[in-house]
Amino acid sequence: MKMEIDCIFCSIYAGEIPTEFLYSDDKCFVIRDINPVARIHLLVIPTDHIEYMNDSPDMVKMVVRDLFSAAITVSESEGVAETGYRLIINQKEDGGQEVPHLHMHLLGGELLGSLD
Ligand code: AMP
Ligand code: ZN
Repeated sequence: MKMEIDCIFCSIYAGEIPTEFLYSDDKCFVIRDINPVARIHLLVIPTDHIEYMNDSPDMVKMVVRDLFSAAITVSESEGVAETGYRLIINQKEDGGQEVPHLHMHLLGGELLGSLD
């Protein structure tokens, strides 16, 4: 597993920061966002430290199924599978990425604003 010292998400997966896991296996894990912007705001995170998707296309290809599979699982356990949800991946500066470890936001539990 590719891990990075001083990465908040690597530290969470390693158990160094007490955090509730809504789902976890050896490929990815899901936690609640510490600063939620919707009633349900989860982060679906690969266990491997992938910083920027374009730098690691092969690793992304390996993990994308697992990320989507985990998103489906937690959308059901969190009760948003019927009402719907939004998945967001922020990349680099223009995407507004704050944590340089690939992750997918899952937002739901309320009517989300339009993108325009
Ligand atoms: P992004 O801007 O896409 O990089 O999103 C990073 C997200 O990680 C933000 O929404 C933060 O609120 C969230 N975050 C940062 N630290 C933690 C933490 N310790 N536990 C849960 N979520 C966190
Ligand atoms: Zn990391």
